Amino acid sequence: MIRENIEAVRRAIKEAAENAGRDPSEVTLIAVTKTHGPDMINEAINCGVTDIGENKVQEILDKYDSVLPVRWHMIGHLQTNKVKYIIDKVCMIHSVDSAHLMEEIEKQAVKKGVDHMDILIEVKISGEETKSGVSPDEITDLLELAGTLDHVRVRGLMTILPKDCDNVTKTLLFNNIRSIFVDIKRKTYHNVNMDCLSMGMSGDFEAAVNCGATMVRVGSRIFGERNYK
Ligand SMILES: *Cc1c(COP(=O)(O)O)cnc(C)c1O
Repeated sequence: MIRENIEAVRRAIKEAAENAGRDPSEVTLIAVTKTHGPDMINEAINCGVTDIGENKVQEILDKYDSVLPVRWHMIGHLQTNKVKYIIDKVCMIHSVDSAHLMEEIEKQAVKKGVDHMDILIEVKISGEETKSGVSPDEITDLLELAGTLDHVRVRGLMTILPKDCDNVTKTLLFNNIRSIFVDIKRKTYHNVNMDCLSMGMSGDFEAAVNCGATMVRVGSRIFGERNYK
């Protein structure tokens, strides 16, 4: 079942990329494994998954030693006091939304001998109050701060759309963040290398790829509905 799902998701990514005139190899599939145990995760890895995403520090710690070698992505809200637990385990933190968090990542990277931590700035594109992330006009300050931190490298932007968006709104919002991304890419900031745009989940990854996503975070379309205990 997992194998078929992964193949279907990969086909859909390929189709969406080609429809947009993009090379499908520009898009990394991150299998979101939250709530699922090591057996299911290892099955996905055996089907060729190279990148997995988790949204809770505790789940990363619980599963880390039982999962085959793979790139771990922290995609959920990260509390500053928990950076130290994952700094040497994840390849990227997608959810950086404050100067304080960025400074803590720098501090812990130095402490744990991590050469640099790749991060994305989480952007709240819809203006919805409940969503985490910074508003677009706060991005520049964070990019300038990154320039002063030698062990932090900003690789791009991440966003999560509100759940109940219609398709037109989704495309509008994805295009919005894409144009912010392109604007930043044109400028030069120290320690900033904008090449990752993390957007799109099970309900909307095709639209996201169409609008320029380079990373999609797909959970339930691969593993089925989650059972939160
Ligand atoms: C859970 C989660 C996903 C994946 O959600 P699905 O709808 O199951 O694909 C993607 N991104 C983040 C930040 C998540 O927490």
